[in-house]
Amino acid sequence: MHKITIAVDGYSSTGKSTVAKQLADWLEYVYVDTGAMYRAVTLFAMRNDMIAEATVNTAKLIAALPSIQLEFKKNGSGKAEIHLNGENVEKDIRHLDVSEYVSPVATISEVRRKLVEQQQKMGEGKGVVMDGRDIGTVVFPNAELKIFMTASAQQRAQRRYKELLERGDTVSYQDVLDNVQERDHIDTTRKDSPLRKANDAIEIDNSEMNLEDQFHTILQLAKDRIAGRV
Ligand code: C5P
Repeated sequence: MHKITIAVDGYSSTGKSTVAKQLADWLEYVYVDTGAMYRAVTLFAMRNDMIAEATVNTAKLIAALPSIQLEFKKNGSGKAEIHLNGENVEKDIRHLDVSEYVSPVATISEVRRKLVEQQQKMGEGKGVVMDGRDIGTVVFPNAELKIFMTASAQQRAQRRYKELLERGDTVSYQDVLDNVQERDHIDTTRKDSPLRKANDAIEIDNSEMNLEDQFHTILQLAKDRIAGRV
């Protein structure tokens, strides 16, 4: 069947990855979590003393970029997990300390160039659902279906807070909310590839939507695009 490219962009913690994964499973497409790639680069910088007192040593990180290898490998249950220089870092990249530094790291053009190039290669054969901030605007501006997800900052922080608690992290709701708002600010105001809705993206505000409704709404849009109905 005719394969398409699906871009899912939007603010932090809007549930992009949940719906992107559901779609990829249903359509038997490849799912790519581009946020995991920016997080893995951030983890690398943190581990190699390139971030001190909340400041990223940009020159040092740029110089080290050729030594950063990122790869998604499937685990036993078929879920793609990110590996940084051969090490599975899927869990480590989700901690709040990584979330605090990832947006500043993602403002660095050299970092973006390296990751965007890798993302474009991963999606070149189509049949891909990619989630991030710049997929419909920069990575795949010709994607057949572009979704832009939004929800209130409070709703999003509540969801992320619950997820972190379930994983056993000790965090406060206020810290999570502050982080969500800070990332929104950096992501939407950075010079290189700021987060914005592509002109041809369909906006889905899921503040009041359950997961099932959201999935079926987006799946229908995908089916229409695949069948060439739109
Ligand atoms: O999707 P997630 O919340 O894990 O992304 C973490 C951060 O990575 C975002 O807040 C953003 O700063 C950055 N990012 C980006 N471009 C992407 C994906 C993520 O700048 N395509």
